[in-house]
Amino acid sequence: MNVVATTASVDQTRDLAEAVSSLARPGDVIVLAGDLGAGKTAFVQGFGRGLGVPDRITSPTFTLVHVYEGRLTIHHIDVYRLGTLGEAIDLGLPEMLDDGGVVLIEWGEAILPVLPHDYLEVRLTFGPGDDDRHVAIRAVGPAWAPREDAVAGVVSPWTAGG
Ligand code: ADP
Ligand code: MG
Repeated sequence: MNVVATTASVDQTRDLAEAVSSLARPGDVIVLAGDLGAGKTAFVQGFGRGLGVPDRITSPTFTLVHVYEGRLTIHHIDVYRLGTLGEAIDLGLPEMLDDGGVVLIEWGEAILPVLPHDYLEVRLTFGPGDDDRHVAIRAVGPAWAPREDAVAGVVSPWTAGG
């Protein structure tokens, strides 16, 4: 599967992420790929809203990890400033997942060697207009594969066929 959606505003990206959050389960990992300003943090904001997080979700660029309590505990990680894979190991991802949390990792593709090979990849790229983004979503590994059709369904308002 590689679902490609298109959004035309930051709110649409948040709404799309909220739709994806309806499929979230304890122990899920979402890897957010895309250049600076592509909308990775915006995606987490919508995802958190969907899980009932009341707090304002902000970029954890300097603090590395923010934790939010919603229907599930959200660990929002940004590894942009991580120096080494050892630091990524020190984040303690297995513990976050064992606790039934959901982990969303901005720039996650930079630490793939320390991630479980089982995640939803969300790749945001810039479209033609300033506010246009393409959101490519792909299941990697067994956790999300059975939910592929459901993912395609919930994001269909933002895909060509939807
Ligand atoms: P990242 O975390 O990938 O660096 P952010 O989510 O922090 O990106 O920022 C995205 C920026 O792009 C915000 O200023 C947002 O308002 C703007 N933007 C404009 N259009 C969109 C869109 N369609 N989706 C997401 N963000 C958008
Ligand atoms: Mg960000």
